[in-house]
Amino acid sequence: MLEKGLVCTNCGRTYELNQLHYRCESCAEPLEVEAFESGEIIRGNPMTQSMLMRYREFFPFKTLDDSLSLGEGFTPLTASPSLASRAGVSQVYLKNESQNPTWSFKDRGSLSGLQHALKMGITRIGTVSTGNMAPSVAAYGARAKLETIILVNENIPVEKLAPIGIYSPRLIKVAGDYGSMYYESLAIGARQGIYFINSDAPLRVEGSKTIAFEICEQLNFEMPDYVVVPTSAGGNLRGIEKGFREFFRAGLISRRPKIIAAQAAGCAPIVKAFDKGELLVTREEHPHTIAHAIENPLPPSGNQVLRILKAGEGRAVSVTEEAIIDAQARLAEEGFFVQPAAAVGYAGVLKLRDEGFLEASHRVVVILTGGGLKYTAALEEHRLSAETCPLEKLAEWI
Ligand SMILES: [Zn+2]
Repeated sequence: MLEKGLVCTNCGRTYELNQLHYRCESCAEPLEVEAFESGEIIRGNPMTQSMLMRYREFFPFKTLDDSLSLGEGFTPLTASPSLASRAGVSQVYLKNESQNPTWSFKDRGSLSGLQHALKMGITRIGTVSTGNMAPSVAAYGARAKLETIILVNENIPVEKLAPIGIYSPRLIKVAGDYGSMYYESLAIGARQGIYFINSDAPLRVEGSKTIAFEICEQLNFEMPDYVVVPTSAGGNLRGIEKGFREFFRAGLISRRPKIIAAQAAGCAPIVKAFDKGELLVTREEHPHTIAHAIENPLPPSGNQVLRILKAGEGRAVSVTEEAIIDAQARLAEEGFFVQPAAAVGYAGVLKLRDEGFLEASHRVVVILTGGGLKYTAALEEHRLSAETCPLEKLAEWI
């Protein structure tokens, strides 16, 4: 557990870890914790060991407060021969992040950010979100008994508001441009000592590394060819890439999988820039998709995602609304009910196989980022039916 600094993902300028820094003061690009070059998995009993304890040699904490864990991480990686067969690839593995305490991958980074906040003596945390991050930060704030400030868009529907409110945070509906709230929250947080564990906060990104760590262990360190990540702000993809990078440098894996960023065509600023060969994202002017959880018109880590894809021979892919709904149905046929945003990854696999980018020999991991019950309105897009029958006729009916 070494003390690390923060380093700019773009220009390399360094910063103290124990201060609130999110973005570079020189180039405004996101920061990350300096990469770990060595470390071991602390092998223990996963029935009693927490995620952070198992991988603590890859986290910049001298001490960990394990009592703050809600049992995040250690999510299943399930092979799906039928989805692989449908896609025409060698194997599809589903990393089911809906098994986390608030039903999405966000819990990993919320815990990691919370540990960082407490290490710095900060007792007020918060986030800007209308999706998976808000309930996650609210849950961990409740667990730690901290004042927790959740900023949401004023137009947030009640079915999204209530699952945040149940954790009793300070829930503030903000009128105004949602895209600007991210930057405004960082400025307010710096002035008032509030740690906003936003989408690409460096220590939230650290939490997402554990997705990669677990995939390595679950595949017995035999790396897949590709890992497909539904991508919004870019923090989760950054964490997953960093996790593979660190295990590679530590000698725990012999090669790194390539990363694919998957977005909905209705909001695909990263894909549009990638397709043009650019390294700067441009704001999506009219975002609209059923995959609300990844509907971010100006991803704060978009440029860094583009740098990662370029350096690691990755790829970006966008998929239509129809393809997302179809992929949601195909995953459910296999027993996985995920939110539309989480179905974007498998939809991307189908498209990239159609295009010939993915080949029959490829082994692909798809990150199922969040659970289906988070957005039941999407069920209206499916033709679901039930039969009705009087009890006395039931035996004959069946
Ligand atoms: Zn910089």
